[in-house]
Amino acid sequence: MGEWSDGGLSVTTGELIAAGRQLSNDCGIPVAVVVFGSAPESVSQQAIAIGADEVYLLRSPYLDEGSSEAQLASLEKFCRDIQPAIALFPKTRLGLELGPRLSFRLNVVLAQDSIAMVLDQATNRIVVDRPVYGGNAVAKLRFPPRDPQLIILRSKLYEPIPADNSRHGEISELEYDIDPQVVKIKRIETVNRKADGISLEEASVIVAGGRGLGGPEPFEQLQALADILGGAVGASRAVCDAGWLEHSYQIGLTGKTVTPDLYITVGISGASQHMAGCSGAKDVVAINKDGDANIFKTASFGVVGEWEKVLPAFIDKVKELI
Ligand code: FAD
Repeated sequence: MGEWSDGGLSVTTGELIAAGRQLSNDCGIPVAVVVFGSAPESVSQQAIAIGADEVYLLRSPYLDEGSSEAQLASLEKFCRDIQPAIALFPKTRLGLELGPRLSFRLNVVLAQDSIAMVLDQATNRIVVDRPVYGGNAVAKLRFPPRDPQLIILRSKLYEPIPADNSRHGEISELEYDIDPQVVKIKRIETVNRKADGISLEEASVIVAGGRGLGGPEPFEQLQALADILGGAVGASRAVCDAGWLEHSYQIGLTGKTVTPDLYITVGISGASQHMAGCSGAKDVVAINKDGDANIFKTASFGVVGEWEKVLPAFIDKVKELI
């Protein structure tokens, strides 16, 4: 499933195409991207340039209105028509909304929150890895023999393939009749949220703050550090529950799953529910005054100390080095 906006395909769509390409090399089936609504020609061309063999443009006025019920209805019809062997969804709001509902409609298995997938040559079925028990263990799931095999993939597991504009592919437009009765939510107005910079899901550096910061004001310092490093600010649930930041900043089991190269935590204890959301980070750096805090079990580097003293010195040093 592809997602697009005026700026073209999303980065996560590029990652899914790269994932599809790898599977395609193993099992020989073509990689198709499904796009909802009146996507311009450039979106299809971009999908092909970065590895798709086919692009299906699902058209309907309801799809242009962004109706998820219409997206689901058309996706179900598409799957019944085309009968894909495997369908990949990004772990985005839309992927999380459509994947499980499609799985119910088609009566097939969905692997949520997958962090790896391979084709098992012996059974010709996909085997996925999924973190379980708050990220403390990894389960291997093999799909039963009923297609499509639906998989929601975490972001940043695959590198999008560099564009090759000489690639050729097939573009098909499909117009499905959508029963107006299924469309229960009507979009009245679109309000564009102020761009907050890099999204947490796409950031390669995240500076996350916890209850230890004592209030919302210190997040300005975290933002300053994130800006220097070209990253984004995140938070623990304690911070969001206290209303210091919106819940869109929350990382963890009931918040966002992030996979940065560098995850800097300040005043976060490292509860398992928080760590479940950042276990994919390559390096964790922790600032915490309690040397026994759980975060230090995961951190590659850590400073035991009061953030009020450590953070300004840390920011100065980073400024000096960059
Ligand atoms: P605390 O645990 O209170 O830690 C604060 C830390 O700051 C301490 O380690 C302390 O030593 C340190 N500190 C204090 N003062 C200073 C200072 N001056 N300088 C340096 N360090 C200092 N949590 C999440 O984050 N995300 C989730 O998605 C999530 N989902 C949950 C789901 C469920 C079902 C449940 C039950 C809980 C969930 N939680 C989640 C909550 C989680 O269990 C923790 O309560 C929460 O992560 C704690 O946040 P914290 O680390 O900011 O606060």
